[in-house]
Amino acid sequence: MKLFLNCKFCKKSNKLNPTASDRYELSKKIGTNFKFACNHCKLIDEYHVNSVHSSKGINSKVLLIFLLIGSIFVFVSLSKFLDSRNIQSVYLLPIGLAILPMVYFAWFSNEEKKIRNFNRYKL
Ligand SMILES: [Zn+2]
Repeated sequence: MKLFLNCKFCKKSNKLNPTASDRYELSKKIGTNFKFACNHCKLIDEYHVNSVHSSKGINSKVLLIFLLIGSIFVFVSLSKFLDSRNIQSVYLLPIGLAILPMVYFAWFSNEEKKIRNFNRYKL
């Protein structure tokens, strides 16, 4: 989960560095009203924490790519290991195939929940 703020001037999305699970926690860290300089147009203005919204950011895509590469690596080394011991890896590969997407979707649904929770409550 990442926090974003849309610039009042150029309307572009800016990623906020402080992390918080809700707007109340965020307001304790940066204040209810805070000054922010846009990363794109560099203009500074005051913003309210309610204008901050939560989104997945790029992390979910990075994680998916990481899991795909990780799963290929796991399958290749697992099948080599099993073949070297004359174990039929064919039966174990579908189990391996199922685990990684499950990890991803478990993470993904948890992330969705956190995002909804942040966006739901305003100060
Ligand atoms: Zn801007």
